[in-house]
Amino acid sequence: MSAVETHEFQAETRQLLELMVHSVYSEKEIFLRELISNSSDALDKVRLQAAQSHDKPLDVSDLHIRLAVDPAERTLSISDNGIGMNKDDVVHLLGTIAKSGTKDFMSKLKEKGDVNDLIGQFGIGFYSSFIVATEVTVDSLRYDSDEAVLWTSNGDGTYTVGEGSRTERGTTITLKLREKDEENGLRDFTSFWTLKDIVKKHSDFIRYPIRMQRTVTQGDPPVTTVEDETLNSMKALWSRPKDEVSEEEYKEFYQHISKDWHEPLETLKVKAEGTFEYEALLFIPSKAGMDLMMQDHRGGLQLYVRRVLISDRCEELLPTYLRFIRGVVDASDLPLNLSRELLQKERQIEQIRKHLVRKVCDALKTMKTDHPEKFQQFWEQFGRLLKEGIYQDAARRDNLLELAQFHSTKGDEWVSLEAYKERMAEGQEAIYFLAGENLSQLRESPHLETFTKKGVEVLLFTEPVDEVWLSVVHEFQGMKFMSAAAGELELGSDEEKKKAQEDREKQNKEMATFLSWMGSKLEGVKEVRVSSRLHESPACLVTEENGVSPHFEKLMKAMGQEMPPQPRILEVNPDHPFVQKLQSGYEANKDSAELGTLASVLYSLALLAEGGELAKPAEFTRQVAQALSKGL
Ligand code: ADP
Ligand code: MG
Repeated sequence: MSAVETHEFQAETRQLLELMVHSVYSEKEIFLRELISNSSDALDKVRLQAAQSHDKPLDVSDLHIRLAVDPAERTLSISDNGIGMNKDDVVHLLGTIAKSGTKDFMSKLKEKGDVNDLIGQFGIGFYSSFIVATEVTVDSLRYDSDEAVLWTSNGDGTYTVGEGSRTERGTTITLKLREKDEENGLRDFTSFWTLKDIVKKHSDFIRYPIRMQRTVTQGDPPVTTVEDETLNSMKALWSRPKDEVSEEEYKEFYQHISKDWHEPLETLKVKAEGTFEYEALLFIPSKAGMDLMMQDHRGGLQLYVRRVLISDRCEELLPTYLRFIRGVVDASDLPLNLSRELLQKERQIEQIRKHLVRKVCDALKTMKTDHPEKFQQFWEQFGRLLKEGIYQDAARRDNLLELAQFHSTKGDEWVSLEAYKERMAEGQEAIYFLAGENLSQLRESPHLETFTKKGVEVLLFTEPVDEVWLSVVHEFQGMKFMSAAAGELELGSDEEKKKAQEDREKQNKEMATFLSWMGSKLEGVKEVRVSSRLHESPACLVTEENGVSPHFEKLMKAMGQEMPPQPRILEVNPDHPFVQKLQSGYEANKDSAELGTLASVLYSLALLAEGGELAKPAEFTRQVAQALSKGL
C-alpha cells in the first residue's frame, strides 16, 4: 500500500465526534459494549461467509474476541478474528455515518442530555470510542484481502489511512485512553477487574468468548503466572430461568439483537416440552420502527437449533401480523441443515408458530387486564398490525377482536368492543361504525347527527385495514357491525323505530315526485330519499347496506385495485329550509333550470361534508356564488 493518506470526516460525522468528545455522559463505559457488539457482528459475518464455498476455506474453528491492555501506555485494544475490513471499507464504514440522522440525534441529545441510548439507534457505536479515547487506531485485514489497513484518528476533523500490520484475518481496535476520572465515569479501563465487570454487565450473552489475560500471583514464595480467562458466560439468556436474569440483562440482549435503542415493552419467555421441544425469548418493542408499515418490511426471529444459530431472521416462526416481535427461538429436534425451502415445509416450525401466537395473544390479554396503560401504549404502536391478524388468522380472530381498541364518538379514550357493548343504548341492535380518512373529519360528519342526538356511540375507523377485516367479520358476540353511512337506519326502542319508519314512508310518498325529479338531475346517484340520520345538515350521501365507504374505494383505486363504482344514495333532511324551499320551488315551476342547479348544489354539499372531492369545484363555487347573491 502507498503512503499514509489524510481524509476529512464527512461534516455530520465531525459534529457527532465533537459531541462525543465534549459532552458529559453518565455511562462512559458503554463504548465497550458497542465495540464488542461490532466484533460479534463481524464474527457472525465471517461465519456466514465460511458457509459459502471459497477457494481457500475460511477457518472459523475458534471465533473469539480478545481484550488486551497496556497500563503504562494507557491503551486498551479489542480484537476479533471476524470478517475484517479493507481500505474501502474503513473509509466508507468508519469515515461516514450510514444513517443520516445527526441533526435528529443532536436535538434528541439536547432533549435527553444523555447519549447512551441514542448511540445504538443511529448506528454510530464505533464513534463512542472517542468518549474515552484521545486516539483510536483500527488495524484490519479483510478475509479476502492480503493487505492490512490502518485507520487512525484523534477525533478532530480528520483521519488517516495507511498500511496495517495484522497478518491474520480480523480487526484490532486500539484506544489511547484518557486520564482516569472515576467521578466522571472514566473508570480504569486498563484494569482486568473493571473490564470483566463491564463485560458481565453489558455483554455477558455475547455468544463468542471474550478473552483476556490475567496475571495471577500465588504461593509461597509467590509465583506470577499469566492465565487466559473468558469474561462472559456466553449463556443463552433464553434458557436461564426468568428470575435469575435481570431486567437490565434482557434489555441489553434485546438491544443487541434488535438494534433498537428503546427498552422492550414486554419480555416473554416461552418453553414448550413434549412432542416438540423449544425455548423462546420474545420481545415486544415499545415503539414501532419507521419501516414497520412498509410492504417489504421483514420480520423474523433468530432461530437456533440446540444453541447453534441457523437463521438470523426466520420469518416462518411468526405470522406476518406479528412481524414487530423480536427474539430468539431455540428448538431441540430440528435438523441443523435447514434450508429456506425446508423451513417452509417443516411441520415443527408450523407447530412452534401456532404455539407462539397463542402465547403472544395470552400475554397481550393479560397485559390488557393487568396493565391497561401499558396495553394502550402497545395498541397505539402495533394495533394496526393486529387488525391485519383479524383478517388473516381465522383461528385467532376472536382473541384479536377482544384485544382490539377503537376510537369512538364518546370522548377521546380508546374503547374495546366489549366495553362498547356494555354501554350500548337501550334497544340498540348493532355495533355502529363510520369509516373515513381522519378523526376530526369523521366527528363532523352529518351521518352522525342522529346518533349524537340519541346518544348512540359510533366507532370511528380511520385505518384502511378496518374495512379489510370487516369484510370477514360480520358480528361480535352476536352483535352485527353496521355502518352509520350505509343502508336505512332507525334508532331507539322498537316502538320509536316503528313510528319513525312509518313517518318516513309517509314523507317519502308525499315527496315522491320531487325526490325522483331530483334523482333525474343528479348523475351517479342511484336514489334520493328522506333521511332519518339528519338534524342539522340538509343532505348526506350513503351507500347500500353492505357497501364499502367511499374512503376505502378511493384507497383501493390509489393502490391500483379494480373496484366497481359504489352506488350512492342521496338522503335529504325534509325539515331543512333549503330542502323545503327547493321542494316548493319545484312545485311552483317544474321546469326551472335554476332549480336543477340548486339540486346539484345540494348534492355537492353532501359530498363535501363527508370529505369527498367535487368533480368540478369551480363550477360549484360559481353556482353557490350565484345563489348567494340572489339572497342578498
Ligand atoms: P453499526 O454497528 O450500527 O453498523 P458502528 O458505528 O458500530 O455502526 O459500526 C460501523 C460499521 O463499521 C459497522 O457496520 C461495520 O461494518 C464496521 N465495523 C465496525 N467494527 C468492526 C469490526 N470489529 N470488524 C469489522 N467491521 C467493523
Ligand atoms: Mg455497532
